[in-house]
Amino acid sequence: MKKVLIGEFKHETNIFCSVPTTKADYEARSLKYGENIISYFEGKKVELGGIIEACRQNELEILPVIAANASPGGIVSSDFFEHVKEELFEAIDQIDDLEGIILSLHGAMVTEDTRDGDGELLMALREKTGPDVFIVATLDLHANLTSAMIQAADVLFPYDSYPHVDYYDRGFEAGNCMAKLLSGKIRPFMKARWLPILVPALTTLLEPMASLNDRSRDWEERDSAINVTIVHGFPWGDTENSMLSVLVTTNSDETLAEEILQDMDKAISERTGEFVSSSIPTTDAVRRAMNSENGPVVLAEEADNPGGGAPCDGTFLLSELIARNVCNAALAVIVDPETVAKAISVGVGNRGSFLLGGKVEDSKINGISLEVSASVKTISDGVFTNKGPMANKLVNRLGRTVVLEIGGIDVIVSEQRVQPWDPEIFRRHGIEPTEKQILAVKSAAHYRAAFSKFAAEMINVTTPGLLSADFNSFHFKNIPDNVFPLAGQGEDKK
Ligand SMILES: [Zn+2]
Repeated sequence: MKKVLIGEFKHETNIFCSVPTTKADYEARSLKYGENIISYFEGKKVELGGIIEACRQNELEILPVIAANASPGGIVSSDFFEHVKEELFEAIDQIDDLEGIILSLHGAMVTEDTRDGDGELLMALREKTGPDVFIVATLDLHANLTSAMIQAADVLFPYDSYPHVDYYDRGFEAGNCMAKLLSGKIRPFMKARWLPILVPALTTLLEPMASLNDRSRDWEERDSAINVTIVHGFPWGDTENSMLSVLVTTNSDETLAEEILQDMDKAISERTGEFVSSSIPTTDAVRRAMNSENGPVVLAEEADNPGGGAPCDGTFLLSELIARNVCNAALAVIVDPETVAKAISVGVGNRGSFLLGGKVEDSKINGISLEVSASVKTISDGVFTNKGPMANKLVNRLGRTVVLEIGGIDVIVSEQRVQPWDPEIFRRHGIEPTEKQILAVKSAAHYRAAFSKFAAEMINVTTPGLLSADFNSFHFKNIPDNVFPLAGQGEDKK
């Protein structure tokens, strides 16, 4: 059997987040070593689940080393980066006849030492193994793609969908691709083009991304096309490459790769003006939700999405819901360990005064801490399992979690940050989401995958925050200022 090393090292770094990402953040979400990786990920609808299944079907020997995933957040510590690299290097030294490496990466990792953590890791592995070991990796659709990644890897598979409902599929594709590389069935040619566009959180379920995505899928139908992806990029990482790119892999067909890149470049560039957030002001959104004949109406506070590194303790939307005295509403989630501890001491069924949220970043970014009187409805360990289409069967850990009833709003307050994309986060805490008039979630697009099955309407709301789509409000140091929609754009347009 051919030997293939597998692993995961993911981080989406928001450099505007003031809290750095360390080993403790990986331990809090997911840090596994060796055979524990197989027992944990097998059967789960995530990248490693797909990689493991494809390797088994292709009779490859799987050598699991390290799987590390932390919630998006501030810059990753170099100590932890070196730790992961060392683990991989040690394993490579110990394995005789290693033929392939498959990694689940994100592609937007910034560390203390580099703005291209993923490219640096892939280059280090390439240098370590030499040219004879194949390297294949999955990436997030929000990767800040770099030439180093393309140079070091044989094939990269970014997700096609946002919501990312294709974690497993891309992992499976990467595993199958490795089998084809090892049997000499394909000789990949990979090429990318970067377009001067900053993309806010735009779902592939809606325009302009929906039809542009269909165009990629059409190109993938070509016999010698292996992979065609529009990579949205992650502007809040503020790297030279934090912009939209198109990545094409063909079976040694350079002409086709160039033809696809030119076509996609043209199709995307023509729609540049549409790459803007569709969110509406909070006051309008709350009014619309209150007046809607049908429920639930989902209000998504995209700028405080923990899935993009925001602290998830912002109070702009919550304070509007309280001010408007809404009924039959629920919010997931405010991260506030101090309030959780106090609520636990107050006890279930009792009332208390709390200073809720707005504690991590400046109040201009996330709002002020709210003084609220609330009754404590539930206390839990915050563990729940996804049942929806995204990362199905994966277990989430919110830490100790309470529900505070503030007037007509049930607010889930937790110790840890977990993006509320699966309605189970409500059910786990005694709230039936389908019966609420208003569901407020700290998510930008992922929530749509599961909530669309029962929501009457889904509205993204505009607030300040570390993931604001108002790119001109950020002081970018590395993104060139001729990129849409920055103020300098137009002066030096290609
Ligand atoms: Zn993403």
